[in-house]
This record gives sequence, C-alpha cells and structure tokens, in this order.
Amino acid sequence: MIEVSKQANLPTQFGDFKIQSFREKKTFGNETYVLEHLVLRTTEIPEIPLVRVHSECLTGDALLSLKCDCGGELHAALQRIAKEQGMLIYLRQEGRGIGLFNKVNAYALQDTGLDTIEANLALGFQEDERDYKIVQFIFDYYKLRQIRLLTNNPAKIKAFESMIALQREPIIVECNAHNAHYLEVKKTKMGHLL
Ligand SMILES: [Zn+2]
Repeated sequence: MIEVSKQANLPTQFGDFKIQSFREKKTFGNETYVLEHLVLRTTEIPEIPLVRVHSECLTGDALLSLKCDCGGELHAALQRIAKEQGMLIYLRQEGRGIGLFNKVNAYALQDTGLDTIEANLALGFQEDERDYKIVQFIFDYYKLRQIRLLTNNPAKIKAFESMIALQREPIIVECNAHNAHYLEVKKTKMGHLL
C-alpha cells in the first residue's frame, strides 16, 4: 500500500524544488515496516526530464563520508536537476537495502579488509537488497513516459528499462583516497560505468 503526501515548497542551496513523500508499507517475513520515500522536483517537468533515483546513504548524503561517493553523486544530481529540470527520487533504502545498523556492521568488517560486497555477503545479505517497485508507482504518478536517467549503475538501467523509455546520462564525481578502492569494486565487481 502506498500513500502520497501533499506537495510543498522546498528551497535548497541548489535551487527551489517541490517536495512530496511516498509512504510504502512493506512486509518482510512476519514483519511489516514503513518506508517514507521522497521526491524533489522542479516546478516545471519537461517532456523528457532528468531523473536521479538515489538510495539513501545517511553517512554519505548528510555526513559527507568519504567512504563512498553517495554525497557527491547526490549533490551533483541536485545541481543538474535544478538547472535542467526534472526530479530526484530519494529512496529510503539505506546501505543497499540492509539498513543503517547493518551497514555500520558491514563497515566494521570493511575495516578488517573486506570490500563492500564481501562485507554484505559475510553478514548474510545479498550484495544488493534494494527493490525498485515504488519507482514504477512514482513514474506513473507523475505520468512520466520517457526520462534521462542520471546513473553509472547498469543494475538501475536494467531495472528501469522495463518501466519507462530511458537514455542514460553519466554522473561524474571525484575520487578521493578513501573511496578509490570502493569505486574500483563498483567498477570491477558491479560493472559500474565509471
Ligand atoms: Zn554511501
């Protein structure tokens, strides 16, 4: 079940956006939990909008962690969306879907030398636990037919290709001493187009 909030204005450092929340109830085994996703969009949505589907990474997005490239990707995406018009779909799937608590445990394993994928597997998760069903709902809600998708991730291209006509726009972020290995793993083990 999905609930849609009212729409509100959200001025940001990148530009003025409209914000709206999508509340998704999910059942996982015996547990039901609630995910509250966000859409940030420009007032005008062009025929073929620029779209970024970003999965929450609290440490990267808000705390500007250098372990990954999420914060840089998010900021680059918001900058371009504000300028070229479109939307950010912000999914609350922390740590590729394993949650914040488990992500910190995965980071602890990474401190002992495992890479980002090996750490998730060691904790009993898939390398990527995200699911994108809500994205179809959001595309339909805004009546999008065709998008320019900002991503380097072939898994996302594959997931959304079946939902909507898309062309890929690469997203470019800077590498640093801390995330160089992480980006290398993304490229060599997950096929990212970096
Ligand atoms: Zn991150």
